[in-house]
Order: sequence, then C-alpha cells, then structure tokens
Amino acid sequence: MRAALAVAAVAFLLELLIYSGLRAYAASEEPMLTALLNAALLAVLLAVLSYWLVLKSLGRGEGARAMDRSSTETTQFAITDPVTRIMNRRGITVSLLDAMAQAERYNAPLSIAMGDIDYLKRINETHGHGTGDRILGHVASVLSETLRMPDKVGRYGGEEFLMIFPHTALAQGRKIAERMRSAVQKSKLDIDRNKVQVTISIGVTQFQKGEDLEQLLSRVDRALIQAKSGGRNLVAAQKGARPGRE
Ligand code: GH3
Ligand code: MG
Ligand code: MG
Repeated sequence: MRAALAVAAVAFLLELLIYSGLRAYAASEEPMLTALLNAALLAVLLAVLSYWLVLKSLGRGEGARAMDRSSTETTQFAITDPVTRIMNRRGITVSLLDAMAQAERYNAPLSIAMGDIDYLKRINETHGHGTGDRILGHVASVLSETLRMPDKVGRYGGEEFLMIFPHTALAQGRKIAERMRSAVQKSKLDIDRNKVQVTISIGVTQFQKGEDLEQLLSRVDRALIQAKSGGRNLVAAQKGARPGRE
C-alpha cells in the first residue's frame, strides 16, 4: 500500500513537472513537437506503472512460494521422529489409514509388519541410554534403506517400527519382513570401538476388508508376541479371521 502511494506521488510530480515544461515550450514551439512530448509523457507514466505492477506480482509469487515451503516444512516437522528421522506414530498411522482405505476401495491386498528391537532395555543398561538412541537411529536407517517404494516405515512406539506393504499379500509380506530382519542382523554398529549385535523380531499380518485400525494392529501385535516368544530375531505371521486374499 505504501509502495503504491509512493509510486502515485512520484508519477504525479513527474507529470506536473513535464506538463509545466510542455506549456512553456508549447507557447513558443510547433504543435507537432508538443504532441510528441505528450506521447513521451504518457509512455513514461505507463512504463512506471507496469514496472511497479510487475515488481508487485513477482513479490507476491515469491511470498506465496515461501509460505508454501514453510507450511510443507511445518507438516514434515510434525510427522517426523527427532531420534530416528523417520515418520513418527502420527505420520505412519495416517499412512496406514490411507493404505487401508485404498485396499478397501480397490480390493487390493495390504500387509503390515511390526518390528521391535530385541533386548533394548539390556543394551541401555549395559551401554547407556545414548547408545540405545543410536541403535534406534541405526535400525531405522537399515529398515528405510531396505524398503522399496511404495512401502513405508515409521517409529510406532519406544522401540517399535510399523511397516506398510501396499499391494502385498501375507506370504509376500512375510518374505519382505524376513529381508528386513536379516538386514538388521547383518548390519554392523560400532559402539566405543566394539561391534554391537542388534536384532529385531517382526510380526506380520494382512489387512482384512471391513476391519478397523484397532483390529488390524492388535493382530500384528499378536504376531510380534509370537516372534518374541519363539526366541526373538524371528518373523511370525498371523492370518486374519476371515479368508485372506493371498
Ligand atoms: P524385548 O526383546 O522383549 O523387546 O526386550 P526389550 O528390552 O527390548 O523390551 P522391553 O519392553 O522390556 O523394554 C523396552 C526398552 O526400550 C526399554 C526402554 O528404555 C527402551 N526404549 C524405548 N524407547 C527408547 C528410546 O527412545 N531410547 C532408548 N535408548 N531406549 C528406549
Ligand atoms: Mg524390544
Ligand atoms: Mg517393545
């Protein structure tokens, strides 16, 4: 607004100056020259106005882009876990609800897996909580690197990772989970120049049409408990109550 007033004031003063010059000139010179000078005055005014309009629209574009960038960054921040730098519980839950809606709508298979680091409490007690945090970050990067598009992983709880495998039936989901488990086991992590062995147990299940988030998550938890009680560093699968689409 202030810029618009300044431009109008400058244009007005400029016009006044040139106009009084022209009147003095026209009194002595030919009418042709007066017409030419009038046209020049108009051109200058139009140029100033369009320059201002262009600058204003460029500024607005930049402002809108900056606002878009900042809102994307805010959203990203709200769904990212600060320790592992992968999606947090909120982010992965939204992704899961979205995957369930897609599976329901297109009648497509969907499998999910819940991975839990083995004996993290003991590692914390032996090496300290900072080491436990490093292990969380390490496992998160191994899982992220092992996943393929459009699969997703997020930190669901303390040392639990939820994975989503769209367009995947239980048998295939189990194979993917086995690949993740094996990748974590093979990965090397140096803590104070000592190699620390980290393993995870994983439960897998397939989404059943018509079920809700709670039913699906409680089944994947049962599969995880089965993997833990089977001795850990294992993958266990739980079939849904209704016939699956394997
Ligand atoms: P299990 O093999 O049965 O999973 O044994 P566990 O010790 O991993 O599991 P338990 O449920 O007994 O304990 C969970 C441990 O995970 C204890 C808790 O301090 C640790 N933990 C959870 N969140 C964090 C975290 O953000 N950082 C660290 N360092 N440890 C965490
Ligand atoms: Mg654990
Ligand atoms: Mg746990």
